[in-house]
Amino acid sequence: MQKNEVLVVGAGIAGLTSAAILSKLGFSVTLLESHYQSGGCAGTFRRKNYIFDVGATQVAGLEKGGIHSKIFEFLEIKIPEATILDPSCIVDLKDGSKPISIWHKKKEWLAEREMQFPGSNKFWQLCSFIHESNWKFANNNPVLPINNFWDFSQLFRALVPSNIITGILIKSTVFDLLRICGLSTNERLIKFLNLQLKLYSQEDVYNTAALYGSTVLQMSQQPHGLWHLEKSMQSLSEALEDSLQKTGAKILFGQKVNSIIFDDPNNCWKVLAKSKKRSFEYYSNDLIFTAPPQSLLTHLEESLHKNIIYKNKIKSLPEPSGALVFYSAIKKEHIKEISSHHYQFVSDEFGSLFVSISREGDGRAPKGEVTLIASIFTNTKDWFNLDKNKYVERKKDFLEKISLEIERQFNIASENWLHRELATPLGFERWTNRPKGIVGGLGQNPEIFGLSGLSSRTPFKGLWLCGDSIYPGEGTAGVSQSALMVSRQILASKGIYDFHL
Ligand SMILES: Cc1cc2nc3c(=O)[nH]c(=O)nc-3n(C[C@H](O)[C@H](O)[C@H](O)COP(=O)(O)OP(=O)(O)OC[C@H]3O[C@@H](n4cnc5c(N)ncnc54)[C@H](O)[C@@H]3O)c2cc1C
Repeated sequence: MQKNEVLVVGAGIAGLTSAAILSKLGFSVTLLESHYQSGGCAGTFRRKNYIFDVGATQVAGLEKGGIHSKIFEFLEIKIPEATILDPSCIVDLKDGSKPISIWHKKKEWLAEREMQFPGSNKFWQLCSFIHESNWKFANNNPVLPINNFWDFSQLFRALVPSNIITGILIKSTVFDLLRICGLSTNERLIKFLNLQLKLYSQEDVYNTAALYGSTVLQMSQQPHGLWHLEKSMQSLSEALEDSLQKTGAKILFGQKVNSIIFDDPNNCWKVLAKSKKRSFEYYSNDLIFTAPPQSLLTHLEESLHKNIIYKNKIKSLPEPSGALVFYSAIKKEHIKEISSHHYQFVSDEFGSLFVSISREGDGRAPKGEVTLIASIFTNTKDWFNLDKNKYVERKKDFLEKISLEIERQFNIASENWLHRELATPLGFERWTNRPKGIVGGLGQNPEIFGLSGLSSRTPFKGLWLCGDSIYPGEGTAGVSQSALMVSRQILASKGIYDFHL
């Protein structure tokens, strides 16, 4: 029996990052991935002449001091080529007024928000204060939620004086911030915030934790920013794969983990995986599980049977959303002049649509053409247990409805589409192995965000969780932060206490 020091399940950004950090530190690491390629929700697929980003299209944390940037510097690998998004998005509330451009440059954003939401400055200043306080805290490598004395010590040493003030807001929502600023009846501002917060926290203004919402509402502006990757989103995963190769870690594709058992005689974890043709067995002291924690209910059956409290905790996690994603391509001359790569607009049918358009020549489409990807949230239950005909019919119906919304928004003639297809939660389940195709992790409401969420430390020695259900939540930057946190926890469990980035 050959034992690994660390086994990682899942080669999405969370798995790749934690594996790369630990391998760079000299651990023997094996990474198991069910798909034939890495990236998960931040991967890509090829269709005809096009490369489509599966899920994530914007990247935070690539600026100096940002989480991807710090990790890449530590791994001594090059940051993939990227350009800052300015504006990061144009939001059309469809209320007859000018769409809102979310500028990267601070001065321009200040002027835009004052023009769009007169009298709202106090609210934005409060968000800025909270965000700056969060940022300093996050840079000090906190561990959240806390589960033992070491976690507590890391939380304590990460605190900065302003956290004492912002800490009072730990159970507050973004709506509470609006109330404090006398803006609780500003319907237009609430409509805008609802659209933006839903994208990043899966919750609306009434339910997004104030401490989380304040940060996501400031992500686009200097000195931070959202970035557009040249070529495709896959370049982020490829860079991490390069690091794994250089440090001698093993990455095994096409192996789906089905069972995780604690092997008492060998005092380690035994992992059973299957490829199309064969079964495999792996052993390791530490195991990082980066698929959604809900999948542990099937994979970790035996251990969970002995710990009903933890089993119930996972069982009672709020059901995340699924996504419908429309992947299309069009000649640039057949779409109205655009001034941003990302748009969000209100839709009577779907609530809102988030649209990402590639830049001509960025590697996603041939010369003169662009890819256009649009996504909406959907209830996963609406897509499962349908008979085949009903499913096909429903999928076609949504493809047509989404096409129509986009045609209206961007003045596209329906005969001009070069390519159109739709992914449903069934497709996401197949592609990412996420149960029922759930995406985006847990909604970031005050009950989940921070101290009361799901911890990366499980009740089972050597079994760790990482990814978008763990603090600080979804997004490639969020899961990289959780990968750094879990790596530090593993090091601390071996008496190595001084690893910080
Ligand atoms: C439509 C959509 C749009 C998004 N837009 C953005 C955006 O613009 N910017 C942004 O930052 N984020 C965005 N996100 C969120 C972001 O993509 C995710 O939060 C992040 O990529 C999750 O990374 P992860 O590693 O935690 O999980 P995943 O990406 O889900 O990776 C998990 C990996 O584990 C593998 N796996 C699962 N089960 C097993 C098993 N049993 N055995 C072996 N392997 C297994 C999967 O195949 C997968 O590769 C978006 C997500 C979606 C769905």
